[in-house]
Amino acid sequence: MKDTLNSSIFDTLKNVFGFQTFRPNQESIIKNILDGKDVFAVMPTGGGKSLCYQLPARLMRGTVVVISPLISLMKDQVDSAVVNGISAAFMNSSMNAGEVADVYRKLQSGKLNLLYIAPERFAIPHFLERLKTSSVSFFAIDEAHCISEWGHDFRPDYLGLSLIPKMFPAVPVAAFTATATEKVQSDIIRKIGLRNPYIVRASFNRPNLFYEVKSKSGVEAQILEFLMEHPGESGIIYRTTRDSVMETAEFLISKGISALPYHAGLSAGERSKNQEAFNRDGVQVITATIAFGMGIDKSNVRFVLHADLPKNIESYYQETGRAGRDGSAARCLLFFSRGDIPKIRYFIDRITDDNERSIAMGKLNQMAGYAAHNVCRRKQLLGFFGEDYTSGNCTACDICSGNVEQIDITIEAQKIMSAVSRTGQRFGAGHIVDIVTGADTKRIRELKHNEIKTYGVGKDRDKRYWRTLVDELIAQEALMQEGDPYPVLNITKKGSDILFGREKITALIKEEVKAKTPADKGGEYDRALFERLRGIRKRLADIQQVPPYIIFSDKTLQDMCRRFPSTLPELKMISGVGDTKLERYGEDFAAEIKRYLDENPGISKPAEVPVYTHRPLSAQKNNKSRTIEETYELSQKGMSLEEIAKQRNLSLATIAAHMERLIMEGREVDVDRLIDPAKRQLIEEFFLSSQQWALKPVVEHFSGTVSYEEARLVRACMMRKREG
Ligand code: ADP
Ligand code: ZN
Repeated sequence: MKDTLNSSIFDTLKNVFGFQTFRPNQESIIKNILDGKDVFAVMPTGGGKSLCYQLPARLMRGTVVVISPLISLMKDQVDSAVVNGISAAFMNSSMNAGEVADVYRKLQSGKLNLLYIAPERFAIPHFLERLKTSSVSFFAIDEAHCISEWGHDFRPDYLGLSLIPKMFPAVPVAAFTATATEKVQSDIIRKIGLRNPYIVRASFNRPNLFYEVKSKSGVEAQILEFLMEHPGESGIIYRTTRDSVMETAEFLISKGISALPYHAGLSAGERSKNQEAFNRDGVQVITATIAFGMGIDKSNVRFVLHADLPKNIESYYQETGRAGRDGSAARCLLFFSRGDIPKIRYFIDRITDDNERSIAMGKLNQMAGYAAHNVCRRKQLLGFFGEDYTSGNCTACDICSGNVEQIDITIEAQKIMSAVSRTGQRFGAGHIVDIVTGADTKRIRELKHNEIKTYGVGKDRDKRYWRTLVDELIAQEALMQEGDPYPVLNITKKGSDILFGREKITALIKEEVKAKTPADKGGEYDRALFERLRGIRKRLADIQQVPPYIIFSDKTLQDMCRRFPSTLPELKMISGVGDTKLERYGEDFAAEIKRYLDENPGISKPAEVPVYTHRPLSAQKNNKSRTIEETYELSQKGMSLEEIAKQRNLSLATIAAHMERLIMEGREVDVDRLIDPAKRQLIEEFFLSSQQWALKPVVEHFSGTVSYEEARLVRACMMRKREG
């Protein structure tokens, strides 16, 4: 019985959704739902929540009722279910009586797999009666944190959902959210009244996102430079004010970039028009205030840029979370200037409640710390959610990616601090930089600061350099800013140790981390074909009036551009192509690929996955196996690959090769400790979809967010599994 269930779950995953493997936690959530248990799941954006209820919807008798707060999203969700051959409908206040009656008829006929509704329906007695007389397989509550006053999105309508377990005692309830602290979590469970639920808290790590901070100067030109390196890629640019949103949009348009603005000052009609254009790939870039975001389900957002400092890490995580939902590499870049801090503080100062104000201030400081500290960005973000990121080098942030170098800045720091000290710690950063660079200002002459010893000692470098250095000294707590609204620089205890030569100070020099998202590299998938397939996707999407990513995700198209499937059976092998999509769109895509191959006879399709054979090394009792044994013993003691490499004075690549042999041998290796499970999952998906075992394409595909060593370990595990 269990076996048949298992096989039907996997068959559905493959045939209906076209996926080869589950994302972390999907399988256990689905099994618990099928077992009739209540479920509470916290999964990050892009974790694949919808599959958790859409898949059982196909397997169970009756209708899954999905409660979702956003009317604007319902249609897209229904469309994306329907293109996979799942019968789905929605019911909301925008519909007329005839349309509602039509949905009721479908519901009563028992042929509807999925029904999306807004929470306010639960206040309508008539609706509840109709629901009671139909066959409901289970309830899925999306964005469940909306029921908690402690969350950031409280919606009173959600409180009505507590009726569900009372009125439908025999029907299971599954609640999903992408944001919940422990406090919000228990609040949600209690408010809905979940009955001894199966609880899943997935990691908030998003391994395919590359985090990066650059110092901000002439930000519009910086944005343009980024866009030039990412031609045609879809992305969001966040700005703080409506004016700057408009200006940036106009600037980009004047440079030939297709862009539209979005902020709360635009009319509702204009907002939804612009959002829709972005959603449907009608425009490449949207420049927006934080008003933009709720209701963005677009899976192919390839970058999120912040041109101004966000007010806290929570918002930053949410906003960057909109990138890369399809699991392909995406970039999150923050342009940081300390000058942005007082602008946010201006608003915080106006909060009347003392406690609230000090919390907001603390959060702003954390945000500035994220940008200024030389600590792995991922570690900082996850730390905010109470997750301890212990994997060491994350390989997917500017700090970890190795393009940084420690340099000694003690002498330069002394020059700055000497100027601060000699002027009595009474001046702000601008004036101090003027002194060090030997500027000839009225203020300097009046104060006779051109007579102090430090005047002009930093002439050899420009003001920008010294201003950044001051920021660095503040970030490292050698200097402190005090006073409002004209903060002056003070020297801390640490600062005076540096000034008097008792301590040294270093800083990271960041080399430009060159963006290497897949679209930049012709070698990784065929870009010319991608453009053609994208054209077909857009055409089909426009005819059906759905967003293009609902037809096929970027990831699926890229897969096609690597494997060139020119027949329907070949197309079926592509990740994201289920039976219904194959039937509907297969001909169009296969024909275009065939045409492309005919026009380009030089292109050869990659061979199918080779069968890997290995020679057992257990019998070999030579030096080689001894050195591998030594690695094994250290690893069993809990050491990371880096630590083993260091201790044994061997290269990381060698240690990874040892681990590979050990895994292939079937030795017990705790792989989860060596590589983040979510990341492992993405790498597995890539190997499966690219149908090849080389490591380089993996590293390139993930734009450096995956190392050779990680790819090697995952490959070893997969090969081991294939061989049983
Ligand atoms: P969430 O609602 O959790 O943010 P979605 O349900 O929108 O995420 O899923 C994000 C993306 O991941 C979608 O493009 C979806 O098709 C894809 N996806 C979901 N499950 C899988 C899987 N098992 N394998 C590959 N892709 C998946
Ligand atoms: Zn990192």
